[in-house]
Amino acid sequence: MTFRQRHLLGIEPLAPAEIVTLLDLAERYVELNRRTVKRADALEGLTQVNMFFEPSTRTQASFELAGKRLGADVMNMAVAQSSVTKGETLIDTALTLNAMRPDLLVVRHPESGAVSLLASKVDCAVVNAGDGRHEHPTQALLDALTIRRAKGRLQRLTIAICGDIAHSRVARSNLILLGKMENRIRLVGPATLMPADGFGCEVFEDMAAGLEGADVVMMLRLQKERMDGGFIPSAREYFHRWGLDAEKLARAKPDAIVMHPGPMNRGVEIDGTIADDIRRSVIQDQVEMGVAVRMAALDLLARNLRAERGARATEEGIRV
Ligand code: ASP
Repeated sequence: MTFRQRHLLGIEPLAPAEIVTLLDLAERYVELNRRTVKRADALEGLTQVNMFFEPSTRTQASFELAGKRLGADVMNMAVAQSSVTKGETLIDTALTLNAMRPDLLVVRHPESGAVSLLASKVDCAVVNAGDGRHEHPTQALLDALTIRRAKGRLQRLTIAICGDIAHSRVARSNLILLGKMENRIRLVGPATLMPADGFGCEVFEDMAAGLEGADVVMMLRLQKERMDGGFIPSAREYFHRWGLDAEKLARAKPDAIVMHPGPMNRGVEIDGTIADDIRRSVIQDQVEMGVAVRMAALDLLARNLRAERGARATEEGIRV
């Protein structure tokens, strides 16, 4: 198995073979999660702490389930009630936590780069559950698994990522991953929500043109919490030009799949009937794959952690 990472901070450092290793392992966890008894022991005896400094529904719930199904002791830190609100710095919080000897730390933070800073201060494996507009690696991995299962491959696909690209960590992690796997990526959205360099992808302001012949249509939420001013004229106007409806979707391939990381704003970036159309929408599959991918990520990091600690203990002559 190829997976050499100590932390999972982003897609950027991953080699294509590491991505494939993680997705293949996640496939096995999809099977486990469909059984009545969903239990494995990959994290037995380990402590996992989830620290979410930003709201989350799917991500936090699925990391919690993932850890529990693999036998870890899982603690969700209630950040809103913690010393963070009393002015404690992120680093002090991290050092306090570190002294409690967790093995896996899952962190979401509004500042880009905060999770990797934290990883440099602690002894455990750290998973980035979303940092600012930077990266959200497990989202891109679960999207990749969803695409691979729906399309039978993860190469040579035309993928349109649509909406608020500039503020989206989901877009960034996805375009890095899908780029590494040699897909054709198009970014579609208003110029005000597009990064200046278009991340080196093909950029379309006209949605119909951007969706023409696409295999995958990935919609994104407007990240209002990361906007400091008006980026769109109005939600109604936005839906008219960049919201996914049946007419715009008709430009994509007839078997194109529709994705959305959630939370979804129906009638803003996506028409509710498209989101609910199980012939096109794989949004619920994404949620299911999320648990399996997070199990695979935690499992691989735990293996590396055990190997590293085992090696260290052997060097010190301690029997483990
Ligand atoms: N849930 C995703 C994230 O945390 C997408 C979103 O919030 O729009 O980035």
